[in-house]
Amino acid sequence: MLNKNWFIGKINTFLREDEGNRMTGVDGTLFWDPNVLLGFCSGNDPIFQEYKKLVGPFHLTPKEAFAKYCEIKNIEYDTLENLTVIAFILPMNTLTKKENLEYSLEWPSERWAHTRLYGEEENQKIWKYVLNELKNEFGVDGVAPMAEKKLFKIYREHKDAWQGAFASTWSHRHMCFASGLGSFGISDGFINERGKAMRCGSFVINHKMPSDANKRAASRYEYCIKCGDCVKRCPVGAITLKDGHNKLKCYEKVSSTVPYVKEHYKIPIYGCGLCQVGVSCSDGIPKQ
Ligand code: SF4
Ligand code: SF4
Repeated sequence: MLNKNWFIGKINTFLREDEGNRMTGVDGTLFWDPNVLLGFCSGNDPIFQEYKKLVGPFHLTPKEAFAKYCEIKNIEYDTLENLTVIAFILPMNTLTKKENLEYSLEWPSERWAHTRLYGEEENQKIWKYVLNELKNEFGVDGVAPMAEKKLFKIYREHKDAWQGAFASTWSHRHMCFASGLGSFGISDGFINERGKAMRCGSFVINHKMPSDANKRAASRYEYCIKCGDCVKRCPVGAITLKDGHNKLKCYEKVSSTVPYVKEHYKIPIYGCGLCQVGVSCSDGIPKQ
């Protein structure tokens, strides 16, 4: 039966069994705990039109994403009225959070860097795996917009994007918000029951599922208690209580980590996440 438990079971089993979820370059422990948090949102939800104002006019609605995908792949469909967004949170291994907190006030730790590179690859494998299983078991089509080169684009600069920079045609965190999984924090991280230190994913399926919009946070920053922990943790002042997260300042710091990560960990990736560990929302929704 296709229900929330089916999706959760598929992802958790994949995380337990797939070798790609093992940090083989460090100590073989798991990138992501097999304890996924998952929600649904109807493709008809008006929030997706709001995202065109909030993220940028280029941000795709589920209907736009699925229709374009079907056009590209020559897939036939009867209607776009039954689409559902599936959004999920992958909880980060506690050891990784601990290491990134203790390692440095300036640079990402080894586990954090490996998680950013290979843990994200595992995240992307999950989208493809679940969509394949869905097609095989139920004949249901779906698309992960971020995995499709013709659908996904990041605008480094765009006059209509929030803060004029770094916005994309599909945002997992906004899909998680729509699906009732949590809210944003002033650091732009996504606060949820599994903690802000995580990766998230999302895809669209052509099948009606019961929406979790009734669990949606009342406001964009609902669960952020404005404790200022993340402000103190950021080494370059990219977060302030007054103005929130400065994407450009953050980008400069994050991209500056590439040579460090390459020299110390021998892998080609950037990383930071110092504002995601040792703060009141690292492991869950903080108490108000
Ligand atoms: S650390 Fe505090 S201020 Fe920063 S996002 Fe979390 S709850 Fe909000
Ligand atoms: S990721 Fe790093 S640079 Fe960006 S806001 Fe967090 S601590 Fe600051």
